[in-house]
Amino acid sequence: MRQFYKNVKLDAETMRFCAECEICGKKEYGLKIPFLCRGIRTLTRCEKGTANKISQALYNRAKANSTQVIAIKMNQCKHCYLWVCDNCYDNKDEYGACSKCEKKESEV
Ligand SMILES: [Zn+2]
Ligand SMILES: [Zn+2]
Repeated sequence: MRQFYKNVKLDAETMRFCAECEICGKKEYGLKIPFLCRGIRTLTRCEKGTANKISQALYNRAKANSTQVIAIKMNQCKHCYLWVCDNCYDNKDEYGACSKCEKKESEV
């Protein structure tokens, strides 16, 4: 899960946390950015971890929760460890494979 945490980013348009499928780029959304963190300066500081205590705590909690919410919607390939959406994931593979790894194996 810690690896996935790094993939969770801010989506400035919707003011939500999101992560992209590493193959097709489809976005999956998590929670909204807490209201207290939404100023441009505050938000930049929150990302760096240098915001004031309250904003930082709200931000960290929302990001951690979003990571869990998004991770449920996405799949991690057991071969290359990419995080991908349902469309790019093959559940029929014994371990679970992304569409890239799926192709590789059928070529062999
Ligand atoms: Zn995808
Ligand atoms: Zn893969």
